[in-house]
Amino acid sequence: SNRQPTTKHVAVLAFPFGTHAGPLLRLVRKLSDAAPDVRFSFLSTPKSNDSVFSDRGSIGDDRVKRFDVGDGLPEGHVGKQMEVMERFLEGAAERFRKGMETAAREMGEEIGCLISDAFYWFVGEMAEEMKVEWVAFWTSGPRPLLVHLCTDLIRERIDIKSCESREKSLEFLPGFSKMRAADLPGEVLSPSLDSPFPNLLHKMGHHLPKATSVLINSFEELDSQIHNQLNSTLRNYLNIGPFSILPLPPRPSDDHACLPWLDNHPPNSVVYISFGGFLSPPPHELAALAEALQEFEIPFLWSFRGNAEENLPKGLLERSRGKIVPWAPQVQILMHSSVGAFVTHGGWNSVLESVGGGVPMIGRPFLGDQRMNLKTVENVWGIGVGLEGGVVSKNGVLKALGKVLGSEEGKLMREKVGILQGLAHKAAESTGSSSRNFTRLVEIVTKINLG
Ligand code: UDP
Repeated sequence: SNRQPTTKHVAVLAFPFGTHAGPLLRLVRKLSDAAPDVRFSFLSTPKSNDSVFSDRGSIGDDRVKRFDVGDGLPEGHVGKQMEVMERFLEGAAERFRKGMETAAREMGEEIGCLISDAFYWFVGEMAEEMKVEWVAFWTSGPRPLLVHLCTDLIRERIDIKSCESREKSLEFLPGFSKMRAADLPGEVLSPSLDSPFPNLLHKMGHHLPKATSVLINSFEELDSQIHNQLNSTLRNYLNIGPFSILPLPPRPSDDHACLPWLDNHPPNSVVYISFGGFLSPPPHELAALAEALQEFEIPFLWSFRGNAEENLPKGLLERSRGKIVPWAPQVQILMHSSVGAFVTHGGWNSVLESVGGGVPMIGRPFLGDQRMNLKTVENVWGIGVGLEGGVVSKNGVLKALGKVLGSEEGKLMREKVGILQGLAHKAAESTGSSSRNFTRLVEIVTKINLG
């Protein structure tokens, strides 16, 4: 037989914004442990690399080596997130190409496989030129992935120019009868697929079916109907999560003593609040949330982006039973028995971590995939609620807290999320589906059949 040579050097191309590069690096470290003869070159911007490699010093180790690529900005430029992202994407392929040349030279080894953030459809073309495999890592959930694959169909069915059409059901997509056009990621219905981010996602939808493998931080049993559709569209579609349950180091530190604080509270008595790594609701919503927490007289743990003292009503902490921290070990918090509800923006990592901890959610989505993730939580899985009007108001939060923590409906949510939690843990066991899929991934990357 004509066996291909085994891979010795893999280039990893990370997306340097949002919570993308961190999970990818954790995945690569796990791969590296499973394939110790393979060298990995991890390419991202200096800022992103500084942040994700901070756990082991800036160098990394010699099996997973850090390489910096330019961010496309003039020296010292400060811009809005979207602008910074768009300027990065412009010319990103060329900068990555150069970065890979440097990596090949420094490692003294040609690149034999490309792993990239799924956003980077152009890596599919690079892989073709280089005659190597392309493994794409999708960092959100299965439903947003499926709608990006179906963008053309959706745009044939939904009139993007009419406002009423936003209320239209997505029932023409199998498994989406409980969702409306308005729940889609905004990019899918963008007035122009030529603008940078909608364009990136649209092209991704066209290129992903060519990837050798598409990876997702999820587990097959979570949403079988959607899983089956993705599985028949994509090659080697591998669910290898939840990362929060798998032994993927490093364990985060608890600098603000959140876990001991939780230890002092009875089961299901605390609400945990976080809107992800970057977002913060506008000041009037922060104030409304704070007032509701105080009136409900519930202990809360709040991972707060920005300056809490400036942005929250004066004296809140003295009056309430809350703890506010600038960063929290979220995975461990959601696994703690004292946490009874999670107020979240619906970022995929957060949703999956909440499932892994068996905690019902209260959702306040902002952008991208968050609305679709939270609609799935509420309407499909029945493990959480939205807020009246989709934004934070004092009454809306009081109602949601009452429902989740003090009603029969809330009890049912806890039961349902407990069932999913069980399936998640099962998938992550050594004989579970995610572990099997990971073994397959190692084979694809190393080209060594583990039997
Ligand atoms: N996170 C954390 N501590 C915090 C806030 C967030 O560890 O105080 C982690 C959280 O566990 C999750 C990630 O940051 O893994 C946020 O990712 P998500 O996809 O939910 O949202 P994004 O940051 O991309 O908006």
